[in-house]
Amino acid sequence: MRHASSFLRSEKARMLSAPILPRALNEECGVFGIIGHDGPAAPIVALGLHALQHRGQEAAGITTYHDGQFHSDKQLGLVADHFNAEEVLAKLHGTSGIGHTRYSTTGESSLRNVQPLYADLDRGGIAIAHNGNLTNARNLRQELISKGSIFHTTSDSELFVQLTALSRGLTMSDKVIDAARAVEGAFALTVLTRDALIGVRDPVGIRPLVLGKLGDAHVLASESCAFDLIGAEFIRDVEPGEVIVCGRDGSLVSRRISAEAKNPRPCIFELIYFARPNSFVDGESVYDIRKRLGRTLAEESPVEADIISPIPDSGVPSAIGFAQASNVDYEMALIRSHYSGRTFIQPDQKVREMGVARKHSANAGVVRGKRVVLVDDSLVRGTTSRKIIKMIRDAGAKEVHLRVACPPITHPDFYGIDTPSKDELLASNNTVEEMRQQIGADSLAFLSLDGLYKALGKGPRDGDAPAFTDHCFTGDYPTSLIDQDKTESRIEQLSFLREAR
Ligand code: AMP
Repeated sequence: MRHASSFLRSEKARMLSAPILPRALNEECGVFGIIGHDGPAAPIVALGLHALQHRGQEAAGITTYHDGQFHSDKQLGLVADHFNAEEVLAKLHGTSGIGHTRYSTTGESSLRNVQPLYADLDRGGIAIAHNGNLTNARNLRQELISKGSIFHTTSDSELFVQLTALSRGLTMSDKVIDAARAVEGAFALTVLTRDALIGVRDPVGIRPLVLGKLGDAHVLASESCAFDLIGAEFIRDVEPGEVIVCGRDGSLVSRRISAEAKNPRPCIFELIYFARPNSFVDGESVYDIRKRLGRTLAEESPVEADIISPIPDSGVPSAIGFAQASNVDYEMALIRSHYSGRTFIQPDQKVREMGVARKHSANAGVVRGKRVVLVDDSLVRGTTSRKIIKMIRDAGAKEVHLRVACPPITHPDFYGIDTPSKDELLASNNTVEEMRQQIGADSLAFLSLDGLYKALGKGPRDGDAPAFTDHCFTGDYPTSLIDQDKTESRIEQLSFLREAR
């Protein structure tokens, strides 16, 4: 581990004086991995991360392995800001590697939290990249600290490293499985060891992970769009609760975190907002899914209008579906600047509002004198829609209606999609009519929960066994929320510390 070692030494000193309990880290991330490539892994990992950039824009990191040594480089900023340079990639030797792109909105965004995280264990080094959030991280961390573990980061992902190190499992994959059994919450991991690339998806399958092939090499990524960029063939989704061990020799072994199968409940918000439209989830195009959300919304809540416009970019496919179903012209009422960065993550509401204005401009020539329907994928705090509706009115629109291609978001997420607390969620504290008044629309409607399931081909929602986790809309969380509920941690989760396999 070349570059990180001196950094780790100074960081360790800082960590020992840092507060023991981490602040909540709400991370949206992308992970990638490759093993058995017939050339250098690093440029492929960099390209994969580039395709996953929408999952996290704060920092990126790559770790590779070559001939007994791990090589790592991590930087704050966009993938292309750093991992484009030949001299950077040339230092990351080896034909296997993993990468991570990160977006944390609260908590620390310092370099020490940037992944992949690395540790030397008794069976060799291990590097881990994690997408998702754990719901018992705080509890487990306290338990491990009380047993003598020293944490180097404030990221919940470090638990995987610590727990893997403590496991007495015989092989690296045994150890990783022990760690996965001890944690609760959402995790899609790519793990690099000397001999293997390991992919792990949590038992409920909250965050996505897909498997592909590039020549003889196995590849893993958060989303299939990463395979398109590198020319890899999509093989299949990693199953919820599955551990895929891809050997350097081209072998592939599928294991399970636990023999007990859980009802898979992938996160519905990946389909609504988070995944890139050109990705395929469970064999279905995300773009097509979003168009169907828009169509169903148009059937449920039609409007007499002259034009339908998306709030770009994320509202585009659902607005196309809405326009096609309503037989009304699809136009761009807003022009989006691609140079403004993200507005959602700004910590301060005032700054967030200015950000919306920097990002979108009204297209006066299109909206003047028109009845405009704006379609967006979701409404969270209402910042975007309030600003945009005013902008469109100021540009001369006669009426401005808002249609939202998902149900009202009433509950926070604890699994890695950044949503604010209940107090800040507009739909958590207001009726639809109150929201309409606050955002200043002539009418406002959301896709119904059953409409959402219907559009996804799984409806109506089955209360006992819903096909997705839809906690943002229902409060029905698919795992225990040990940290959030402040319940006692279950000590048996660490039982592997006491017994050898
Ligand atoms: P708001 O302005 O707070 O109502 O946020 C709604 C806008 O943010 C929508 O246009 C969404 O496309 C986008 N959005 C929704 N959820 C997220 C998220 N978790 N992270 C970043 N952006 C989001």
